[in-house]
Amino acid sequence: MKLIQKPIVIVGAGFAGMTVALSLKRLNPSLPILVVDSESKFVFKPLMYEVLSKEIRMWEFAPEFSNIFSDVGITFLRNCLKKIKFNEKILEFRDDLQISYQYLVICTGSVPNCFSIKGVDENCYFFNNINDLNKLKSILEKSNKSISRLKLFIVGGGPSGVEIACKINDIYKDKFEINIVERSNEILSKNKIFNREEAEKALEMRQINVFLNSIVKEVSEQKISFSNNAGITNLDQDIVIWTAGVKSNLSYLDNEIPRMNGRLVVNDKFQIENNMNCFAIGDISIIKGMEDLPLTAQVAIQEGTHLARNLELLIQDKDLLPFKFQDNGEMISLGIGKASISALGITLAGKLAFEVRRFIYASKLPDLGKSLKSATSSILNKKSIVNHFFQKDNKSD
Ligand SMILES: Cc1cc2nc3c(=O)[nH]c(=O)nc-3n(C[C@H](O)[C@H](O)[C@H](O)COP(=O)(O)OP(=O)(O)OC[C@H]3O[C@@H](n4cnc5c(N)ncnc54)[C@H](O)[C@@H]3O)c2cc1C
Repeated sequence: MKLIQKPIVIVGAGFAGMTVALSLKRLNPSLPILVVDSESKFVFKPLMYEVLSKEIRMWEFAPEFSNIFSDVGITFLRNCLKKIKFNEKILEFRDDLQISYQYLVICTGSVPNCFSIKGVDENCYFFNNINDLNKLKSILEKSNKSISRLKLFIVGGGPSGVEIACKINDIYKDKFEINIVERSNEILSKNKIFNREEAEKALEMRQINVFLNSIVKEVSEQKISFSNNAGITNLDQDIVIWTAGVKSNLSYLDNEIPRMNGRLVVNDKFQIENNMNCFAIGDISIIKGMEDLPLTAQVAIQEGTHLARNLELLIQDKDLLPFKFQDNGEMISLGIGKASISALGITLAGKLAFEVRRFIYASKLPDLGKSLKSATSSILNKKSIVNHFFQKDNKSD
């Protein structure tokens, strides 16, 4: 058994950090754990679209960290990490707070990537956190009062772009002419074929325009310009939502740690090179040999669960185990009350898929208990509907 002199420090309490903290506490209740996050609330990002459409309420999808952690005996501190001094094993936070660590887990997620394209930062709306959600909600509500039909562009035809487009269409009906601008030759190019086909149908049914093979060059206050086979297209815009990519949230690190595509390179036990007691999981890291893993909550949760087991092994002075990812499928929402699921050989679309999707999310992090479960209590009561799905997919993330 190793001597644990200091709490295990986890910075970032999103899907990865939350999972590692709660799983580790379950495995070893006497272990001191300190979780630090710059925000006060956990954000269940996959359900942000349902908050926009008021299908669930803000408090239900974003429970307070202090409630979650105090219930299970984990110490929570709200602060923002500014620097890591690896040599001295010291973390520097806002307000000159310093914390020394013995074992460190960093999992600070990702932020939108504007790829230095002119005008994007200043003139686009984003959809990555509660702040973005509130800003977008407020402009959509304000625009809803306008008498004319407004031109809304969504840049990025990945899951976020498609999901927002369908929700906005269903909430505001004909208020917006909705356009998606996508650089590749199809939407959801990295997703399962079934979900892509369902999404294509959903967009067509809602008469949402899709510009494929189109690369945004600039967004000004009133125009969006993109290039495609036809040359440069310049169109009037009232609202542009940017969902075209994310980058690791690593502002507290210099370039001393090797990166790939902007993410920290770790081994298959999540250890950072030359700092074997420091681990990086979730969106910020990329595992050597598993570079294709997507940036999803599913990956972050599996990594968090595995790291908790490994930390317990480390404390017992045993060998760490390599991580293996299990693809449990994917789910996307497609408008109010509808979704599409492709998981472990099962495909589902429409209303039933929507209910199954919410049920799965509610059951994913049982320790979040009250708030998320209340959001889905009506669904949890309909177990018969989802039983056939869970019999096959009792591990889906
Ligand atoms: C709108 C949207 C919808 C999505 N839908 C899905 C989906 O349907 N399915 C799916 O699998 N994935 C989905 N994702 C992706 C998924 O949410 C991410 O992959 C996942 O959140 C990554 O987990 P993480 O723990 O690495 O980061 P996050 O969950 O982003 O958590 C990072 C945490 O770190 C904190 N933090 C950041 N910087 C600091 C700092 N300097 N100091 C202290 N704390 C800090 C943040 O406050 C945050 O709490 C979606 C993402 C978005 C934005």
